Amino acid sequence: MPLENPILSISERVTELNSRYRNQKTEDVLRDILKDPLFGPVALVSSFGAEAVVLLHMISVIDPATPVIFIDTEMLFPQTLAYQKDLAEKFGLTDVRRITPSREAVFQRDTDNLLHLADRDSCCALRKTEPLERALIGFDAWIGGRKRFQGGVRVAIEMFENEADTRIKINPLAHWSREDVADYITVNTLPRHPLVAKGYLSIGCAPCTTPVSAGEDYRAGRWRGEEKTECGIHLASHVPNSGEPEVNTAVIVNDEGFAPDDWDRGYSVFEDMDDLSETQKSALAIDLPNTFDATDLLPWIDQIDLIRVEFPVFSDGRGFSLAQRLRLLGYHGRLRAKGHVLADQYAMVRRSGFDEVEISHELANRQPQSQWSARAAWQTHNYQQKFYQST
Ligand code: SF4
Repeated sequence: MPLENPILSISERVTELNSRYRNQKTEDVLRDILKDPLFGPVALVSSFGAEAVVLLHMISVIDPATPVIFIDTEMLFPQTLAYQKDLAEKFGLTDVRRITPSREAVFQRDTDNLLHLADRDSCCALRKTEPLERALIGFDAWIGGRKRFQGGVRVAIEMFENEADTRIKINPLAHWSREDVADYITVNTLPRHPLVAKGYLSIGCAPCTTPVSAGEDYRAGRWRGEEKTECGIHLASHVPNSGEPEVNTAVIVNDEGFAPDDWDRGYSVFEDMDDLSETQKSALAIDLPNTFDATDLLPWIDQIDLIRVEFPVFSDGRGFSLAQRLRLLGYHGRLRAKGHVLADQYAMVRRSGFDEVEISHELANRQPQSQWSARAAWQTHNYQQKFYQST
């Protein structure tokens, strides 16, 4: 059944799938997912980390031509890159897609590759979330390796999840125990990631992963000592939350959390400025594309109360540059980022000079208030504060 089936919504389909496959053997579930054309295009997303070998082995047995998306953040351990090549060859995987961050985005947002030291959420957005989002275009569902025993937000995952009413996320190992994983690897004599022997129970990027001591949490080595527990690629599923807005309107995100959109004044795109009445110009809010030349606003810059900058896609960083330019040119009014901005990017949005973000109701449902509020440390490098202090 294609996911766009008009009879069942994705949410209804997820409920039905969880019910149908609740007591099925994992390999049988995977076989159905990969072999039944009614599921639509499905990819396995693999980190080639500590336990990735289980799902990679299973899909190699069922269909080695299954697309495997490997997000190479360009911050991974060299052992992970070598392990990825070894496993792909050993298992005969014929469609491993190594996905790297956008060159342009890295150039704009992490020129010296040190963003992870200043803002890990923004680094994960740049190097993981955004590349994955691009890689998943065209897929109706994707398979991941999360398990409930890994703790944190993972304790409540289902085998099938609704990802923002756009795709189904499949966690075939959700109910597996740590012993199940170890047994599968032993029985099938599968090669381990070389860092497992050195105490790495969960393996991500080199700067953000440390070994785990006996008695520590399973994922204690990831972003050690920080509140962060997920890179962001698993935070897009719909999770009911009391902070969610109920109506289908734009949602404003600021440092206080979610707020209703108060933009009830007349506004115009910049091209219409000359046609506005004096009344309109006295309380002016305008939309700007992120390609706009900020110097063109100089004649009006003190008159504008609110500027809204469009972010057409997650990976387009030009909106950040425009915001910084507007502030440097002396714009002191409200500045709003509108469109495809993730909670992971909130710190960067604020430091660029924006006051707030305007997101869709749908995105607010996928990324509820708690996820945005968790990015409260953006003041560490407060661009706006520094700017105002120096003027
Ligand atoms: S895990 Fe660390 S290095 Fe990797 S993308 Fe996230 S912040 Fe950056």
